[in-house]
Amino acid sequence: MKRIYLDHAATTPTHPEVVEAMLPYFGESFGNPSSIHFLGQETRVIVDEAREKIASLIGAQSDEIVFTSGGTEADNFALKGVASACGHKGNHIITTSIEHHAVLESCRFLEEQGFAVSYLPVDRYGLVDPEDVRRAITDNTLLLSIMHANNEVGTIQAIAAIGKIARERGVCFHTDAVQTVGHVPVDVDELNVDLLAMSAHKLYGPKGIGALYVRRGTRIAPFMHGGGQERGLRASTENVPGIVGFAKAAELAQKEMGAEAKHLTALRDRLIHELSERITQIHLNGHPSQRLPNNVNVGIEFVEGEAMAISLDLEGIAVSTGSACSSHDMEPSHVLTALGVPAVLARGSLRFSLGRGTTEEDVERVLEVLPRIVARLRSVSPLMGDRARTA
Ligand SMILES: *Cc1c(COP(=O)(O)O)cnc(C)c1O
Repeated sequence: MKRIYLDHAATTPTHPEVVEAMLPYFGESFGNPSSIHFLGQETRVIVDEAREKIASLIGAQSDEIVFTSGGTEADNFALKGVASACGHKGNHIITTSIEHHAVLESCRFLEEQGFAVSYLPVDRYGLVDPEDVRRAITDNTLLLSIMHANNEVGTIQAIAAIGKIARERGVCFHTDAVQTVGHVPVDVDELNVDLLAMSAHKLYGPKGIGALYVRRGTRIAPFMHGGGQERGLRASTENVPGIVGFAKAAELAQKEMGAEAKHLTALRDRLIHELSERITQIHLNGHPSQRLPNNVNVGIEFVEGEAMAISLDLEGIAVSTGSACSSHDMEPSHVLTALGVPAVLARGSLRFSLGRGTTEEDVERVLEVLPRIVARLRSVSPLMGDRARTA
């Protein structure tokens, strides 16, 4: 049975060229970039080159890239770093109710430290109204944190418009762009952002490496204190193999992004359209067009997402119910709840996130298998009344 991986929002397969690029740095080129000898200088040069490639992917300068252990650390760094450096300015932070846990839990932590956090609502498609942002800003606001694209429903926010408002009001603006960098064009100047989080393993790079873009002049406190690496903002010996892999992934993404987005958008739209033709009482979660090229999230009435995901798994198809992080518990996802998706429908939601290797045949296989699974589950579902069952 062919295994079909449709969970690229959780992580992507490491590209073979990325693995190949990393290998020497686990072997003979093991130097510490801070060392003055030739082994150190060799890795120093390679880290500098990598920083430039990653900066170029998002239209930044290389000295604005701070390497972190991933997207979670980049988000923690942005929120806690700005709160700590700008606490004198006020105590108010604005974010949204659909952020990744890395942002939401950092906000909860800061609330315990005495900061006040506003969680902006979203509309039924998952969009934040920029006017809500304008209204929420007070003289006490020191930071705005709004994700670029949502990892569950794929909705892409009007970050440039929101950034313009933040700039007018002199409020520092962070965006979690883990789902967009390497997938859709991201330019920090066009987006008007001061801080931006990214993660290599979401763009065919290795796990455990990411970066925070920090615009020159942004006030932010160091995240790790120690040997002064990363311009004193994030001490610790550089993860050289990870950084090299991240840069290779960035380089490949820059080359392939346009064609890939086109390919995925076509597959995405076929999947959405055909699922709604072949399955009754099915609803698209998220925005119909302002969404990631690879994201399909649907709610199917009278079936449990968990049961569908397990049945698909038995057919060799890997998908996710809601987000990977919240699929342990039976609580409906905070994102679907924020969109106003009724709990019954949220529990019947599935996320397909397509990727570079996804083919038309893969999509056809889902279209062949899922309607059968839904019909079988509905035929035994206590959620479904007799009337609905025969429909
Ligand atoms: C995956 C993800 C993260 C976390 O990144 P890690 O590198 O796994 O820590 C943060 N935000 C979003 C939107 C994500 O999808």
